Amino acid sequence: MPGKLYIVATPIGNLEDMTFRAVETLKSVDLVLCEDTRVALRLFNHFAIEKTTESYHQHSTLKKIGRIAGLLREGKNLALVSDAGTPGISDPGNQLIESLIQVFGTEIKIIPIPGPSAVTAALSICGFGSDRFIFAGFPPAKNKRKKFFEEALAYSFTALFYESTYRIIRTLEDIKALEPDKSRRIVICRELTKKFETIYRGTIEEAANDLKKGIIKGEFVFVLEGRVDKGG
Ligand code: SAM
Repeated sequence: MPGKLYIVATPIGNLEDMTFRAVETLKSVDLVLCEDTRVALRLFNHFAIEKTTESYHQHSTLKKIGRIAGLLREGKNLALVSDAGTPGISDPGNQLIESLIQVFGTEIKIIPIPGPSAVTAALSICGFGSDRFIFAGFPPAKNKRKKFFEEALAYSFTALFYESTYRIIRTLEDIKALEPDKSRRIVICRELTKKFETIYRGTIEEAANDLKKGIIKGEFVFVLEGRVDKGG
């Protein structure tokens, strides 16, 4: 039997969000695959996790995946962490998992160690319906950007996406221009779990105005209220 691969969620800002199980798992494995070994080391130092690390990131090659498969074949237990939050959610992980399933089939045990993620944190406080929601990742920077927002606005259920600091205002302008319903609500979550955590709520216009009053810096999640069918 191959070794196990644990997919371990880590804090999105506040170190106190690290779970006991995440610490125990990271201490127990033979090797931790890290999106960035220097970032992981800071976390590991805080929790006294002394572990061999190796990088695994979005540019890792098939050769790297082959090496990881080799370690698992030897029976080594591995963990994967990203820089923050849950691996695989707009972070490396999916390609590795898919490849390992191709190599080992159902023999390989891939075990989630759940914990923080910016998308679930934002969803939990948005106040919109969360029985059905869609997470759309990052909007494209150029091509198909308009289509991305048109689709997000067309959903009748809550839509969440991440956005880079540099495009926050542009994104709000894009959404405003595409949404004819001026009462459509939005929640913009900035720096969740961190010192400067700020939640902007209101219509798209209100949230944009509030946001423009402050310093636009940090990490952001957008939550769009589902489209309300106004009938007619
Ligand atoms: N895997 C991570 C997760 O589970 O949330 C997401 C990684 S993705 C590369 C990074 C993006 O997530 C940021 O650009 C931002 O949009 C969002 N994000 C991460 N941490 C955040 C935080 N503390 N507050 C708000 N958004 C955050």
